[in-house]
Amino acid sequence: MIIESSLDEVKKREKALLIIRDIVENNGRESLYDLTGLSGGFIASPSELSLLETYVGPAIFEDALQEVGIEHMGGEKILPLNRTSSGILATILALVGKGTNVVHYLEQLPAHPSIPRSCKLVGANYFETDVFEEFTIPDNTSLVVITGSTMDLKVIDEDEFRKVIEMAHEKNIPVMVDDASGARLRTVVFNQARACDLGADIAITSTDKLMPGPRGGLMAGREDLIDLIKVKVNQFGLEAQPPVVLAMLNGIKNFSGENLIKSFSRKDEFFDILDKRFNNFQKTPNGVLISPEGLSREIDVDHNLSDNDLAFVLSFILLEDYGIITIPAVGMPGASATIRFDLSTNDAFNMDLNDLGKKIESSFDKLLSVIGDEDKCREIIF
Ligand SMILES: *Cc1c(COP(=O)(O)O)cnc(C)c1O
Repeated sequence: MIIESSLDEVKKREKALLIIRDIVENNGRESLYDLTGLSGGFIASPSELSLLETYVGPAIFEDALQEVGIEHMGGEKILPLNRTSSGILATILALVGKGTNVVHYLEQLPAHPSIPRSCKLVGANYFETDVFEEFTIPDNTSLVVITGSTMDLKVIDEDEFRKVIEMAHEKNIPVMVDDASGARLRTVVFNQARACDLGADIAITSTDKLMPGPRGGLMAGREDLIDLIKVKVNQFGLEAQPPVVLAMLNGIKNFSGENLIKSFSRKDEFFDILDKRFNNFQKTPNGVLISPEGLSREIDVDHNLSDNDLAFVLSFILLEDYGIITIPAVGMPGASATIRFDLSTNDAFNMDLNDLGKKIESSFDKLLSVIGDEDKCREIIF
């Protein structure tokens, strides 16, 4: 095994960032293709940047974000946060008491870990299910959670969404929606209503997902609840700072539903191109992926590498030879080794899919040629 520990992962990530730096310095940013789907956009003009002072920044940009955020999310009031996870934590700190129940319905497990972790922190009992018929709201429930679109982009059925909200409101229990990617995926691609328009009391989205914004969380919902949550947010330092608020504002303004829809049709075309040569690519809503196990099944040459190592080596070849950035090379320790090609990001829009397919094929051929030589593979990763 080549990658055996978190330290190995830190080291491989350092190497990946060095490769990215060299490509930018030698050939320019336009020679890189970030297909991770998490490209952390930061759109800002020089005059806006000059206003980024501790108190001037929020005065200008938080005010502007109220209007733009409500248009995007619905609801009565907007609260910008450091991350989606921060918004989930703050909501649970504000609304969930020790010993009470929190119940969560989502299309497919697993839930984002910030939800059970936050419940544990306040001493609440947490229940989750992805079987609608099994979803119930017991007595002594303080919060009902719905995930609009899961981490793997599985989207909830809109009728079930409405029914869960109805069940909660019959018992006067507030509903928080984790709409990290769902706020755009559900509404634009699946033609569903915004969470707040479906009756959600609180909805949170990630401004880094399926839009050209920074890593951050954008909360919308009932003003009375947002005010309670905002107290916790400020007490514990969970709020978005002025530079992030500015980039959120411009990220939402530059969000294009059309591009998102285009990536959804382009993924079918791309899948067909790759499917001619490979058997183990799968479609995601906005691109394709190959899992480490799938990659291993593509290989009929003798080797001693683990499935994850195969994905790491291929991800590094894609980066070094073609400037194509995928998660296994640059991801944090513990990130999935699945190689995803996300077609909804800026760098993907102008790519020729046949050309991208050829680059993936020749990277795979190079993987086959080095796979028997473990030292060579180590050199590629480190
Ligand atoms: C990404 C994601 C989150 C967390 O977003 P962070 O910005 O990392 O806190 C929460 N829930 C879902 C469903 C997500 O996809």
